[in-house]
Amino acid sequence: MKNIQIAIDGPSGAGKSTMAKMIAKELGILYLDTGAMYRAVALKAIRSGIDTKDSSALAEMVKGIDLQIVYEDGIQKVILDGTDVTEDIRTPAVTVGSSDVAVNSAVREKMVELQREIAEKSSVIMDGRDIGTHVLPNADVKIFLTASIEDRTKRRYEELKEKGTLKQTFEELKKEMEYRDKNDSSRTHSPLKKADDAILLDTTGFSVEESAKTILDIIKSRL
Ligand code: C5P
Repeated sequence: MKNIQIAIDGPSGAGKSTMAKMIAKELGILYLDTGAMYRAVALKAIRSGIDTKDSSALAEMVKGIDLQIVYEDGIQKVILDGTDVTEDIRTPAVTVGSSDVAVNSAVREKMVELQREIAEKSSVIMDGRDIGTHVLPNADVKIFLTASIEDRTKRRYEELKEKGTLKQTFEELKKEMEYRDKNDSSRTHSPLKKADDAILLDTTGFSVEESAKTILDIIKSRL
């Protein structure tokens, strides 16, 4: 049987990972959070004293990176150089750094290679910025998920607060998101962009339940 591929793209805080996790569970397929991979690259750069905007140092670093995505009880773990960094990649510094390293072509090519290897082995739902446009151009369903900057900041703020990892004010978080939106949309290599054949879903004002129902209905009608 052919593997299913579902692509969810959109700006930061649009609810991609919440939706993708829920869909993966419902359909019994793998969820790959591709943002976590760029975060791991940023973490390695920061820990190695490499400027996250230094393109030649990053290109050199990523050549030898040992990055593995493993699943424990269905939960994605990120293993960098043999160590579990799943929690370490969620700090504000790594978040901003991830958007900076994601501009780099060598970094992107390496990450896309790993992402496609995973998609070859099993049915998958991937979330990111370039899944529908670049990583999985023939995905069965493509969704571009967005919401207003106010709503996205509010959701991320509440999520971090709930996890007990909130380290910024609402305004700081909003600025960080605006910075990443701009960086991600304006880079030359596979920028954040809706694929022509993706369904645009603006969830401004939607509850999690409303977003989940709308997305599941779209996906089920297309598979
Ligand atoms: O999704 P998340 O916010 O964890 O992603 C972190 C950063 O990684 C994003 O700001 C973006 O710059 C980058 N990214 C990307 N392409 C992807 C996934 C994430 O450029 N497919």
